[in-house]
Amino acid sequence: QEIASAGSPGMKLILLGPPGAGKGTQAQELERRRNLVQLSTGDMLRAVIASGSALGQEVKAIIDTGALVPDDIMVRMIADRIEQPDCGDGFILDGFPRTTAQAEALDVMLDARNTALDHVIAMVVDADVLTRRIGGRFSCAKCGAGYHDEFQKPRQDGVCDHCGGTEFTRRSDDKPETVRARLEAYEAQTAPLLPYYRDKNLLRSVNAMAGIDEVTAEIEKILMGA
Ligand code: ADP
Ligand code: ZN
Repeated sequence: QEIASAGSPGMKLILLGPPGAGKGTQAQELERRRNLVQLSTGDMLRAVIASGSALGQEVKAIIDTGALVPDDIMVRMIADRIEQPDCGDGFILDGFPRTTAQAEALDVMLDARNTALDHVIAMVVDADVLTRRIGGRFSCAKCGAGYHDEFQKPRQDGVCDHCGGTEFTRRSDDKPETVRARLEAYEAQTAPLLPYYRDKNLLRSVNAMAGIDEVTAEIEKILMGA
């Protein structure tokens, strides 16, 4: 269901947090509840890889090591995406920015469009749950809806709640060796964005250790201006 009056039209959000914090899960839920599009750079990169292009091969080699894709590629990808008409009613960035350079580029992009971020929501979790969440996650091959072996099973085993699809995929970068490198990249390159946005008075935190529905409720409270 859509909440028509809450929040400003064209709301622009960032969900910030380590891999496994629940960004994708919450972004998908917000997309279902509100007229916002989820911009998952992970999904965009996986689409580029699936296309088999030269760029896709380059990107796959980087992602398989757990490292971040270069800023210039990511910034161009997002700059193109937010120009699309479906982003006019607002968007949720999930997976971008991941470095200070990307955050600065985003500021320039939004400035040029005479707009700005409404909130940056930090999803705070203990490090030890991340590997457990990442290890069990999978998604619908048809619509991309996210699930978990333990925390978010489809209502009917083997059937997607949202589209009825029966094929599911697991990410190749979710293996334990790669996850370790991804968590290190987060700490070194992405965690500095917390003070970056705190200084701009945009940062709000949610307890992402709570259950999925509780986290959604906490985020909704922020969006309603609480
Ligand atoms: P991110 O996009 O931040 O990497 P995901 O949204 O993919 O994280 O979440 C990782 C996994 O953890 C998913 O399988 C998801 O179902 C599960 N998950 C997400 N949020 C919670 C939560 N609050 N409690 C338990 N499991 C969760
Ligand atoms: Zn589906």
